[in-house]
Amino acid sequence: MRTIRNELFCLIFPRLCVLCNEALGENEEQICLQCLCKLPRTLFHRQDDNPLVWFFAGKIPILHATAFLYYRKKNAVSHLTHTFKYRGNKQLAFQLGRLAALEYTPCRQIDLLIPVPLHPKKEKKRGYNQSEWICMGLASVWNIPVRTDVLRRKTPTSTQTGKLLHDRWRNMQNAFFTENAEVLQGQHVLLVDDVVTSGSTLVACAEALVQIPGVRVSIFALSIA
Ligand SMILES: [Zn+2]
Repeated sequence: MRTIRNELFCLIFPRLCVLCNEALGENEEQICLQCLCKLPRTLFHRQDDNPLVWFFAGKIPILHATAFLYYRKKNAVSHLTHTFKYRGNKQLAFQLGRLAALEYTPCRQIDLLIPVPLHPKKEKKRGYNQSEWICMGLASVWNIPVRTDVLRRKTPTSTQTGKLLHDRWRNMQNAFFTENAEVLQGQHVLLVDDVVTSGSTLVACAEALVQIPGVRVSIFALSIA
């Protein structure tokens, strides 16, 4: 129950939608219902063969791949991504994970959620891994454990921005390795990323995971560019 003090606080400092800056309702978090309805959804999860599945076909043996939203230059999704990645709003990443999980029911039972690891230096600088917060949002709806101690990032990869596509692929090869692999044996893992652009990071992560006997991998990205 809201106390008078809380209500006064909300009057003076209303919680605002990160997209339209209107005051949020009591049951709204980060994004108002109107803005939420307008987000460009891919609806990939309804298709067994969607563009993301085609993208990974032949590159890496995965069960399924989906992305929740379309990322376009200067659209609402790019604004949201910038906000949770560079403005410290990790709660927004959590909330977007939650919203995705409420709309998307995986067709096959998933045992574990694994975020794409950031390079430790980058994570230290940012203070968090946004993909881990997306995972926690998904997990809060699905009640599936999140493991951050299994997939690790090995070599320092310099920033991807501005690199040629070929260089990005080469840069990513063997960038990841696994630890505590025994917890993954026989499990269906959902590998979670924030935005798919070249796909090189996800392929490199999935390559490390499928080395473990009996592991099945599916992919979830919050958005696809
Ligand atoms: Zn709004």
